[in-house]
Amino acid sequence: MLGDKRILISGAGPVGYATALNLARLGVPFTLLEAGDRIFEDPRAGTIHPPTLEMFEDSGVTQTMMQQGFVVSNFHYRDRRGGVVANFDLGVLADVTRYPFRLMLEQHKLSHILREKLKAYGGHEILNEHRVVHVEQDGEGVSARVETPQGLKTLRGAFIVGCDGGRSQVRKSMNVTFDGFTYPERFLVLSTLYDFARHGYASTNYIADPEEWCALFRVPGQDGKGLWRILFPASDAPAEELFEEASIQARIQGFNPKEGDYAIVHRNIYEVHQRVASSYRDGRMLLAGDAAHINNPLGGMGMNFGLHDSFNLAEKLGKIWFEGASHDLLDLYDRQRRTVAQEFLQRQTIENKRNIEQKDPAARAAFYDELRSIVADPAKLHAYLLRAAMIEGLRRSNSIA
Ligand SMILES: Cc1cc2nc3c(=O)[nH]c(=O)nc-3n(C[C@H](O)[C@H](O)[C@H](O)COP(=O)(O)OP(=O)(O)OC[C@H]3O[C@@H](n4cnc5c(N)ncnc54)[C@H](O)[C@@H]3O)c2cc1C
Repeated sequence: MLGDKRILISGAGPVGYATALNLARLGVPFTLLEAGDRIFEDPRAGTIHPPTLEMFEDSGVTQTMMQQGFVVSNFHYRDRRGGVVANFDLGVLADVTRYPFRLMLEQHKLSHILREKLKAYGGHEILNEHRVVHVEQDGEGVSARVETPQGLKTLRGAFIVGCDGGRSQVRKSMNVTFDGFTYPERFLVLSTLYDFARHGYASTNYIADPEEWCALFRVPGQDGKGLWRILFPASDAPAEELFEEASIQARIQGFNPKEGDYAIVHRNIYEVHQRVASSYRDGRMLLAGDAAHINNPLGGMGMNFGLHDSFNLAEKLGKIWFEGASHDLLDLYDRQRRTVAQEFLQRQTIENKRNIEQKDPAARAAFYDELRSIVADPAKLHAYLLRAAMIEGLRRSNSIA
């Protein structure tokens, strides 16, 4: 056991593992507590943006991700009935990033890479089947009540970082609110091995429609050869009804008719929220990732944003740990990351959803005209992609003092 002289991390999703690796590289001791018994493999994040690839370069994580992922250098915005509206070429970002593309790699594979990289470092422990149920703090540190197969335990740490997702128990133990809203519809995610590229689709496509929009992506899949994921809006009907074979086939045939059925590999359903914690810091308790902010997945930003939180926070914790820096640095973390969660992450993802489902024909036509004018003008395209590739938000975050 590491005793009190460590940081506790609650939750070993991609953000918890990234926080762990970032602290390990600095030499800060920590204990990573995970409720589950393994890394979950449900199909969630698959898109990794340029700043994230830059941040993971020094640890070698990016190089391993590049070996396993697909490089996607363009994406389509489409109208479900009218076809391609605009083709966005990410190559125009080559003047600002070494990674002018999106990397498609499933989030559980990133977690496995991070866990593997951690093996090179000492001074930490990773405890699965350790669910944080409550956290308290005093002047010296935090006490986390943890449910384990051996019963309840209390673990001490100097700080706790809540990376325990949208239902974060750390956040619930803090004096903060989680304001925002939940969409009435849910998102249905289907995966198929059927290759949509033969119909002219890009590897990433946002397909707008007033009645049933969808988003279509190609991720590596289990064998690394390619699996297509399709995201649809879904009602609050029971999952068995939404997963019913005939209705799934009708949905996919509806936007891409073909002979015979699609072979479906996964079916998942997610609730979708737009919320940001009122503070990422309450004394020695901190939040990062989905514990701090949740949003709809259109634009592929939530996990990336959480990873950026992790790099920002770990650097500040390192300064407090080794250089005796003031705890006020943690307020700077809150200001830098929470401001951009509101200004960029929330704003952009809410807009993305509003645009893709736009019901007013005039507003839809105006939006398509705007997209066409963006791709036709190199300066506008550059500015648009700086935001879509999460570079602008990160610059804004780093500019906050
Ligand atoms: C369909 C879909 C597609 C998406 N696509 C993208 C994308 O392309 N790009 C992108 O950037 N984002 C995307 N996202 C968002 C992304 O999945 C999340 O932002 C990401 O999972 C957040 O990571 P996290 O580590 O903060 O939280 P999580 O992944 O939720 O991990 C939290 C971890 O904490 C553990 N835990 C929970 N409670 C406790 C507790 N009390 N004690 C201990 N451990 C606990 C959980 O078991 C889990 O392992 C998508 C989401 C969905 C639903």
